[in-house]
Amino acid sequence: MSYKIGTKCVQSGYTPKNGESRVLPIYQSTTYKYESSEQMGRLFDLEEAGYFYTRLANPTCDAVAAKITDLEGGVAGMLTSSGQAANYYALFNICENGGHIISSAAIYGGTFNLLDVTMRKMGIDVTFISPDSTEEEIMAAAKPNTKAVFAETISNPSLTVLDVEVFANAAHKIGVPLIVDNTFPTPVNLRPIEFGADIVTHSTTKYMDGHAVALGGAVVDSGNFNWAEYPGKFPGLCTPDHSYHGITYTEKFGKAAYITKINVQIMRDLGSMQSPQNAFLLNLGLETLALRMKKHCDNALAVAKYLNEHEKVEWVNYPGLEGSKYYGVTSKYMPNGSCGVVSFGLTGGREAAVKFMDSLRLAAIVTHVADARTCVLHPASTTHRQLSDKQLEECGVDPGLVRFSVGIEDADDIIADLAQALENA
Ligand SMILES: *Cc1c(COP(=O)(O)O)cnc(C)c1O
Repeated sequence: MSYKIGTKCVQSGYTPKNGESRVLPIYQSTTYKYESSEQMGRLFDLEEAGYFYTRLANPTCDAVAAKITDLEGGVAGMLTSSGQAANYYALFNICENGGHIISSAAIYGGTFNLLDVTMRKMGIDVTFISPDSTEEEIMAAAKPNTKAVFAETISNPSLTVLDVEVFANAAHKIGVPLIVDNTFPTPVNLRPIEFGADIVTHSTTKYMDGHAVALGGAVVDSGNFNWAEYPGKFPGLCTPDHSYHGITYTEKFGKAAYITKINVQIMRDLGSMQSPQNAFLLNLGLETLALRMKKHCDNALAVAKYLNEHEKVEWVNYPGLEGSKYYGVTSKYMPNGSCGVVSFGLTGGREAAVKFMDSLRLAAIVTHVADARTCVLHPASTTHRQLSDKQLEECGVDPGLVRFSVGIEDADDIIADLAQALENA
C-alpha cells in the first residue's frame, strides 16, 4: 500500500508488532546482546544484518531514517548528528583526496566553508558555479576527476531555487551523481529524486525537527545511480574494501551499496551518528511536518505580499511570490508551496536592517531558521561573517539581507509585529 505524504509523515518507519509499544521506543543502548561470538562475528563481517554497536546502527535511528527515506522516495538512508555531517559524509563517501566536486555557489555558509576550506585541505578540489547555470555551463566545469555535482534545492539564505532536472541531466552526462540538500522545501514540498537527483541530504535540525530542539542530519540514496558503470571513478564502491575482508559494495549490496558504505565505513571511522534521543524528538517533528509546512508556506506568502507593498522595503525575495525570479521554476517543482523563509532588504540598507530587527517583539533574533516560532537573522553580520563581500555576492547574500523565518503563529500577529518594527526602522 502506498500512502500519500501526510500519511507517511505520521506512519512510516515504525510498525509495532502485536503487544509492542505503539510509539517508537528510544533504544537508549550502545550495545546489543548475542547468544554466540560466532553470530556476532558474522555481523562484523557484514554477512548478517543486525545491531551490535550504536555507532553503526540503532533501532530508533533506523526507524527514523526509514521514515525520511520513504518520504523522499529513496531505497536506503542514514541519520547523522548534524546537517554538516550529512553533507560531508554524502560527498566524502565517493570523493577522496585527488577528487573534484562541482557545487552551486548558492549554499549554506557552513557547507560553503566545508567545501572551500576543510575539504580543500583534504586534497579535494571544488569549482563553484551559479545556481542558475545551464546544462552546458555545468558540464564546462567538469574535470576528469569530478565525482559529484552538489546544490541546494532552495538555498539558505539566498533562496535561489534549483532547476533540478537541468542539474541532474548535466551530472549524468558527466557521469557523476547529483547530490542535493533538500533541507528547506522538505520532501513534503519537493521530492528531488522524482526529478533525477541521486542522493538527497538534510539538516533535520530545521523543518523536520521544526521545534529547535535537536541537531541532526540525514542522507538518502535513490538507488538510481549506477556506480558499477564507472568503476575507475568510484573505486571505493566498486573495488574490494580491505577493512571488510575484501567485500565489494556494488557487488554485495546492489542498490544499497552507497548507503551501506557510508554507514559501515564512513560512519564507523568518523562517528558522527545521531543519538537515539534526538532521533526520537526528530520523529515527533516529522509526524506533524506536512501540517506545519502548509502553515509555514501560507504565512510566508502573506508576509512576502505584505513586505512587497511596504514603502520601506526595497526588495523581497520569496520563491512563491508572483514576480519572483524563481516563480516559474518554483511553480514547476513545488506547486504546493516552497518554504517558510522570506528574505528582504530595507531601503535604509544594513543600518536600517539592524534597527528593524532590534524593534521586533514577536520575532526573535536567533541563528536558527525553520522553527515553529518566527525568527530573524542578519546573515552578513552573523552566520556569514567569515565570508568576504565578494564571497557574499557569489553566494547571493546581499550585505543588507534580512532572513525572516516565518513561524506557524497567526499570520496577522506576525504582520503586526513587522509593521511596528518597520515603523521604527
Ligand atoms: C543548517 C543547514 C545545514 C547545516 O546543518 P546543521 O544541522 O546546522 O549542521 C546544511 N544545509 C542547509 C541548507 C542548512 O540550512
